[in-house]
Amino acid sequence: MRHVALVLLAFALLSACAEPAAGRPTAAPTSAPVVVATGAPTSPPSSAEAPPSTSTTIVTPTSRETPAAESQATATPTAPPSITGPAPSVATPVTPPPPPPVQFSADTRTVVIDPGHGGEEVGAANFGVVEKHSNLDMAFRVERLLAERGLRPVLTRREDVRASSAGLAAAPTGFSAQRIDLQARVDLANSERAAAYVSIHSNGSNSGAERGIEVYYNSQRPHAAENLRLAQAVHDGVLAELNTAGYGAVARGVKDDSCLRAFQGRCFPLFVLGPDRVTTRDEILRRGGNPDALLPPGASEFRSRATQMPAALVELYFISNAEDAAILRSEPAREAMARGIARGIARFLRVE
Ligand SMILES: [Zn+2]
Repeated sequence: MRHVALVLLAFALLSACAEPAAGRPTAAPTSAPVVVATGAPTSPPSSAEAPPSTSTTIVTPTSRETPAAESQATATPTAPPSITGPAPSVATPVTPPPPPPVQFSADTRTVVIDPGHGGEEVGAANFGVVEKHSNLDMAFRVERLLAERGLRPVLTRREDVRASSAGLAAAPTGFSAQRIDLQARVDLANSERAAAYVSIHSNGSNSGAERGIEVYYNSQRPHAAENLRLAQAVHDGVLAELNTAGYGAVARGVKDDSCLRAFQGRCFPLFVLGPDRVTTRDEILRRGGNPDALLPPGASEFRSRATQMPAALVELYFISNAEDAAILRSEPAREAMARGIARGIARFLRVE
């Protein structure tokens, strides 16, 4: 914790997707999704959350068996170690919508592209790259390329906002906002009956030496094998396109996120990849959220809804590494990464 800003960077991804602690407002830029090369470190991301970082060990996926149970899905998490900021107040209680009737159709050409973070949640930020802007810029590129391939891309957000803020009179903050935001992304994918869900991020670490590209999937799902196949296709596609374009990248491989954040003996997958799970009123309070923003009237707990289609989350380089960040600022490299993601999705859908 000697360098708070860098520690925050390390968990930028996790703050959005493994839904840890309450965020706090930041002085993050809110302008158009443009990656600006200022060379100066930016404000730290919003979520001050610090369970142990993930290993950099490259996991070489083999023929994994699909687990029969989703036992980790309903584990009630223990409060994260360092939640900062006061419990948010929410002006307008938001009752989560009922679970949509999902019937996954492998025939659909719909692909949900999820630019990670947005609004008050900045993600990683350093060396002139702000993750939430970078992610959205990349999503627009992938959207264009998928459309050119005859697919139907749907983005979870198109502006510098949380995915769920539209239509709310007063957006919740902190843990409540984060959970509503992530659930909205999942619900959109389910309601669109997408064939694939790909979340776009860039990494951050408190070690400036960490570099490279990795893709997460969840092995604790009924369609785990397809999750892995999608993740591998995106990983390989991005690396191949970067190589063709002349950019180096450390291939960190495809990683199972099912126990990404072991904390006090419990596992936390990335929210948008993992199974559904129960969140209690007590947990909401301990994590700085507002139960009225998450629970139906009179309820003491609620069950989240999981993506019903193969899903993967790609981490495009480390914003916390100067060399990686320089590549992220490169227009040709960004276009190559977008081509790689689109190529991987097309390969997964067998529409190449
Ligand atoms: Zn992220």
